[in-house]
Amino acid sequence: MATKNIRVRFAPSPTGPLHVGGARTALFNYLFAKNPHGAGKGKFILRIEDTDKERSELKWVQEIINELKWLGIEWDEGPDIDGASGPYKQSQRMEIYEKYLKQLLQEDKAYYCFCAQEELEDKRQEQMARGVAPKYDGKCSHLSSELVKKNLAEGKPAVIRFRIANKKVKFKDLVRGEIEFDAGLLGDVVIAKDLNAPLYHFTVVVDDYLMQISHVIRGEEHLSNTPRQILIYRALGFEHPEYAHLPLLLNPDRSKLSKRHGDVALADYHKQGYLPEAIINFMALLGWNPGTEREVFTLSQLVKEFSIEKAQKGGAVFNIKRLDFLNSLYIREKAPEKLVLLCAPYLKAAGLLVKGQISDDKLQKIVEVSKQRMKKLSEIVELTDFFFKDKLNYEKNLLKWDKMKDEDIKGALLLCDKILSNIKIWDAKKVEEVLFEGAAEFNKQKGFPEKNRGFLLWPLRVALSGKEFSPSPFEIADILGKENTLARIAEAIKKL
Ligand code: GLU
Repeated sequence: MATKNIRVRFAPSPTGPLHVGGARTALFNYLFAKNPHGAGKGKFILRIEDTDKERSELKWVQEIINELKWLGIEWDEGPDIDGASGPYKQSQRMEIYEKYLKQLLQEDKAYYCFCAQEELEDKRQEQMARGVAPKYDGKCSHLSSELVKKNLAEGKPAVIRFRIANKKVKFKDLVRGEIEFDAGLLGDVVIAKDLNAPLYHFTVVVDDYLMQISHVIRGEEHLSNTPRQILIYRALGFEHPEYAHLPLLLNPDRSKLSKRHGDVALADYHKQGYLPEAIINFMALLGWNPGTEREVFTLSQLVKEFSIEKAQKGGAVFNIKRLDFLNSLYIREKAPEKLVLLCAPYLKAAGLLVKGQISDDKLQKIVEVSKQRMKKLSEIVELTDFFFKDKLNYEKNLLKWDKMKDEDIKGALLLCDKILSNIKIWDAKKVEEVLFEGAAEFNKQKGFPEKNRGFLLWPLRVALSGKEFSPSPFEIADILGKENTLARIAEAIKKL
C-alpha cells in the first residue's frame, strides 16, 4: 500500500471560546501527525471555519490561537503561517466555494430550493406527529430551469440543496470500525444560503480536499455528518479522507460535558492556574491510553507513544480530580525561579505583592515552601497571604492543640518567645533544632505525651500563619525573620 502524505487539521468555528473538547481534538491531530511510528513528518493544519458571519468573531480566532500556542500545540500551516493550501480562513475562500457550488448546480447534483421557513417547519412538525424522522420532502428538487431562473430573477429567497442519494454509505472509522449509514434517511441537505454563503457541510469537504487532508480526526458529534460529507466528496469527484471520531467528553454522571458541571473553556483553566503541561497530559488521557497503567506524559513523550488505534470508543469522563493531581505534580516539578514567575501575577492581582516590598529571594522561598499544597497557581494567594500581611486575623481557638487550656497555650508561646529570642543566627535549621528541644522540655514540664510536639509547635505555627494548614513553623519563621516572628508570637499571646 502506498503511504500517503499525512496531513491533518483542526478546524474550529470561532463562535465562542476554545473548549476543552476542541483542544483535545487539536491535540490528537497534532500527536497523530507528529508520531514517528505513524506519520512522523505529518503536517498539522489550523483552519478557521468562519463562514457563519453573524456568530464568528475575531476575538475568538485570537483566543483559539493564543490558547493553542499556550498549550504548545504548533501548526505547520494556518492563518498566521502561510502554506501552499492557504488561505486558512474560510471567509477568505469564498471564490473557491462558489466555483464548486456552480459545478454542482450545473451537474444538477445540487438545486435551488424556494421553500419558506414556515412551510418547512410545518412539514417537520407534521412528520414528527406521524412518528417519522423529519426530512426534506424534495418539493423543489425537480423544478424546471425556467421557473428557477424566473424565481431567482424576481429575487425570491432561496437556498442551495445537495441531492442526497438514496443509498447506504459505508466507511471505515479508525476508532469506531466499519460504519454504515442509510443516507436515504437524511433528505437533501442545504449546502449554501446562496452562491456567496456556503455552509459547513460543503466548505469542509472542499477545504479538506484542496488542503489534501489525509485523515479527519474530530469529535464524535460529527460522526453523523460524515455520510453527508462523503456523498458531497463523491459528487465533486473527490476521494474522501480517512476518518477517526474521538469519544464524547462526559461529566462524571456520564451526561455530555457541559458548562453546568464546571468550566469548559480552556481559557478558564488557564486563568485558574492550570499548567499547559498538566492540561496536555490530562487531555491526552481523555479517550486514549497507552495500554499500560502509566498516567504521566509530557507532550514529547505523548508524541512518541501516541497511536490512534488506542483511542477508545466509549465516552471519556472528565475527572477534575485527575487534572488537579497532574497539575500539582507539574507544579512541584517546576524550577523554583519559573514557579515564582508563574505565581507572581496572582499575588500582584490580589494586592499582596507590591513592587520592592519583598526580595526575590524571599518570594522564591515563600513559593517553594507552599508548592506542596498547591493544586493550581491561583491558590498561591490563600496559601501565602499571611507572609505578606502586617496583621493576622484568626480565631483564638485555632491556637489550641488537643486538650490544651489557654494557660497551656500561653505557656507554649512564651517558651517559644524565650527560645527564639536567644537565637543569634536565624535560619530554618537552627529554629527547628531549638524548637525540637523546647518541645521535649515543654511536654515534660506539663506532663504532655513525650513525643507529641504539637503542644508546642501547633500554637506557634498558628501564631505565625493564622491558618489551620500551612508550612512548618520553622519554614515560616525562617522567611518572616526574627523580628516578625517574635512580633507574631506577642500578638498571639495578647489573644489569650
Ligand atoms: N468547524 C467545525 C466545528 O468546529 C469542524 C468540524 C470538523 O472537524 O469537520 O465543529
